[in-house]
Parts: sequence; structure tokens; C-alpha cells
Amino acid sequence: MMAQQDLRVVVIGAGMAGILAGIKLRDAGYENFVIYEKADKIGGTWRENTYPGLTCDVPSHHYTYTFERNPDWTRHLPPGSEIQAYFERTTAKYGLQEYLQFGQEISRCEYRDGRWELQMQSGLQDSADIVIAATGVLHHPSYPDIAGIADFQGSIFHSSRWDHDLPLDGKRIGIIGNGSTGVQLVSALASRADKLEHYQRTAQWIMPVENGHFSEEERRAFREDPALLAEVMNVDAFNAAVESYTQGLTDSNSEGAQQIGGACLQNLESSVRDPQLKEKLRPDHAPMCKRLIFSPDYYEAIQHPNANLVTEGIERIEANGIRTRDGELHELDIIVLATGFRTDQFMRPMEIIGNNGVDLESAWAVRPVAYLAISIPDFPNFFMLNGPNGPVGNFPLIDIAEHQWTYIEQLMEEVNSGRCAGISASHEAMQAFDEERIAAAKKTVWYTGGCKSWYLDAEGIPASWPWNYSRFVAEMAAPALEKFDYFPVLQIKQAS
Ligand code: NAP
Repeated sequence: MMAQQDLRVVVIGAGMAGILAGIKLRDAGYENFVIYEKADKIGGTWRENTYPGLTCDVPSHHYTYTFERNPDWTRHLPPGSEIQAYFERTTAKYGLQEYLQFGQEISRCEYRDGRWELQMQSGLQDSADIVIAATGVLHHPSYPDIAGIADFQGSIFHSSRWDHDLPLDGKRIGIIGNGSTGVQLVSALASRADKLEHYQRTAQWIMPVENGHFSEEERRAFREDPALLAEVMNVDAFNAAVESYTQGLTDSNSEGAQQIGGACLQNLESSVRDPQLKEKLRPDHAPMCKRLIFSPDYYEAIQHPNANLVTEGIERIEANGIRTRDGELHELDIIVLATGFRTDQFMRPMEIIGNNGVDLESAWAVRPVAYLAISIPDFPNFFMLNGPNGPVGNFPLIDIAEHQWTYIEQLMEEVNSGRCAGISASHEAMQAFDEERIAAAKKTVWYTGGCKSWYLDAEGIPASWPWNYSRFVAEMAAPALEKFDYFPVLQIKQAS
């Protein structure tokens, strides 16, 4: 695709996906674009999450854009700060600074006369032919509804709002939640706290993983010889592992599911010494029902003399700590709410009005939906990266976004070439897709595995991509254009 028309493109969000969009737009010759970011720097989730121990559980060399590998990772799993630095470096290298506008939170997008009219909270307005929503998924903090939460006299905050001025060493720290975040926090803080209490509501399956160091020598070798880096990465083997993992999500009898379940069980059996603690840590649901936790050291950390796993259930929070249901008051200086995110928000609270005045809230009245996670009927030229029902949480998001871009680029080409002025999924395609998706979702381990998780929507249906990796890659390679409504310029003008 090469830009033929001077289409105005607005990208919303300067996280991993928005930066990708900017690079790809420039590559294709689109110069008339802007990336609006509500915060004061790029990075998305990696800007917002800075908690101690923050790590991505995708092997480092695979957590990059395919066109911008990074030989400089210091660990086998990438630390959050290195990921943020990678995105900052990449943004500069691809000359995106001049396309970025910070401190611009979009409050409203309305499709009028064949264009998107955008309103920022700052008062700024813009209009665009095409909008790319790269607003992220796991970033609206979910605050628990625990009685007395406002009474706590110490420091209490969500894991994604870390206060780095707060001293941690020698403190009494309580961590609520044992998703990937809570587990990483316990590993990082158990040996630093005077007392670390981990509040677990539901035990998790924990997959052992190595997190070694890359030596300076190895990093130099990767820098000097990209072929060596490619060899070490072995993309085919990695993709095969992702495929096997996703096969496990959709078929709990598959070899992949059996291997993962076996490895988690073996990890629990061999790593935890105290039989009572082992039973507390033993999950009551199928492996992978919740987002699998990868950790090299959680079991070791929770057995640290300063650490204590609390499973009694939280009665309330009081001025001095947490009172559990058995009546005990656990005195604390700091409480961290590692309680996850509201994963059904996407672009919201932005107000989004599509063709003929259809608003997103009514289009999403039952649940957030998008055809193949990218396009919503009646919202022409509004494309999402990591939108609803995409494979969020089960394959590397960065890889997902690149595949989605390939698809979006081809939809944009329909406009760029003059074949239409606007394009969005048809209602028929959306409905057929969603029926098939829901039927498949009910067969996944997220639904059958006997647990609750952020994968489930308000009606208890798993919201994530319910098929395997290879189907996703195949779908993203080329859009079935007959599934889309084409809006000729005239029709748009008449409709408005
Ligand atoms: P999460 O997986 O949603 O976990 C939230 C935790 O908070 C759960 O343990 C939940 O318990 C607990 N919780 C929620 N409300 C509670 C309440 N009222 N009382 C007690 N406990 C409560 O959130 P997360 O750990 O932040 O992770 C979210 C996602 O971010 C991950 O699944 C992953 O996709 C991503 N992430 C990835 C990495 C990585 O290494 N790649 C790191 C961090 C996050 P229940 O289980 O009982 O509901």
C-alpha cells in the first residue's frame, strides 16, 4: 500500500500499538497523521505500570516489533523499564516525535459528512478520514469493593499507580491479588519487606520459567550478528509453542494442555515444602482457566521467612490494616491493590458516534464486540488495534498488533484507492462472527475450566479470541472484503 490520497489519519494512544501504527503509516507514505496521547509520554501499559518486579512473560527477543529486533535485552524475560526504553528508542528512531501530541485526551469522536470529527478535553478539535483506536485493554484499574477501604491510615494504591517515593524496605506490606501482577510483586518484595502478606482469593496455576541474564558478551554478539539473534530466537519454534498453548485453551485434552497442566502441577509439588501451604496454593480449577502465570520464583518467594500467604478472606480494611474473616487484624503500612483491570472499556469513556448517529454505547449494549476485533458495523474507517474479542492475554500482544495492522492496512487501501470513502464490517458479518465466536468461547477452558477471570464478559462468556493462533494469523492475512459495507462518498453525504 502506498498513500495516493492525502488521507488524514488520527491514531488514539501512543502505547505499543499506536507507535506501531505511526511507524507503519510513515512506511506507507501517509504523512498527514497525528498520534494523540492523553499522558505526557509514550509507552501505554509500560508507562503506567512501573511496580517492582514488573516483567513481561514473553521471551525478551520476541517482545519486539518484527522489523526492530532488540539485541540488548539483559534478561530472558524483559523487565518493564527496558521495554519502556525500547519503545522510546524506537519512537525516536522512526521519527515519530513530530507526529505525537501529548496531554490530549479525546472525549468525543463523531462521524459526520464522511469524516470523523474529534473533540479533545483540552478544547482542541480535529477531523480525520480514518481513526485508529490503539487505546489498550488492561489499563483501567479495577478497584475492589472492600468495606473500609477509605479508612486505611497507611498507603494504599493500585499496582498500576505505583508511588516510587514510598520506602518499601523494612515495611509491612499487604498485596491483594495473585494475578501476574501480584505474583511478580511478591517475588520482588518478599525479601525487602519486614513482613509481606499475600492475600489470595483463588489459588493460581504457576508455570515455571527461566529468567536468566544475557551477558555483555552475548549482547554484543547479537548486535554484531543479526543471524545469530535470529537463530537464538527461532521464530518457528516459538510460534509452534504459541500454537500449542492456544490449542490447549481450546482443547483441554490436547498435548499442549496436558504438558502445561503437568508442568504446573510438578512445579507446585516439587517447589513447596510445607504440606499445608502446598494445599493452600493448590488451585481448584483447570490450568489455563485463568490467565496462566509464568514465574521463576513465586513459590520460593512465598516461602521466604518474611512472607505469609493469607487465604482466610478479607472482611474489611481498617485504619491499621486488613481484618480477615477469622477476626484477625493484620497490621500493615502499605496495601497494594493488585486487583487487575476493567477489561471491557476499550476506547471508553470516550463518546463515539458512528454513521447515522449510532452511538458506541448502544452498539455495545450487550457486550463490546468488533468484527475480527477490528471493525464495528456503522463505524466506517474506525479501526481498532487490540479491540474486543482479540487474542488479548493469550498470545504476545505485540505480535497480535502487527498482524492486525496488516489487515487494517488493507481496509485503508480500499479508501486510499478511491474504491470507497468509508468501510466497516457489515451487520451480517458481525452477527455471524459473534455467533460463531460465542459458540467457540463456550468450548474454551476459560468457560469450562471452573473459574472466574477477566476473560469473562458481564454475561460470563469468554471475551478473548477463542480459536488458535494459526486461525488468527490466517484471518489477519487478508480481509474477506465481502464482509464489509462500502460507503461511497455520495451515500455518506446523504446519510448525514
Ligand atoms: P488479574 O489477573 O485480573 O488479577 C486480579 C487479582 O485480584 C486476582 O487474584 C483476583 O482474585 C484479585 N482480586 C480482585 N478483586 C478482589 C477482591 N475484592 N478481594 C480479593 N482479591 C481480589 O490482574 P493482574 O494481575 O493485574 O493481571 C492482569 C493481566 O495483565 C494479566 O492476566 C496479564 O494478561 C497482564 N499482565 C501480564 C504480565 C506479564 O508478565 N506479561 C504482568 C502483569 C500483568 P480472583 O482470582 O479470586 O478473582
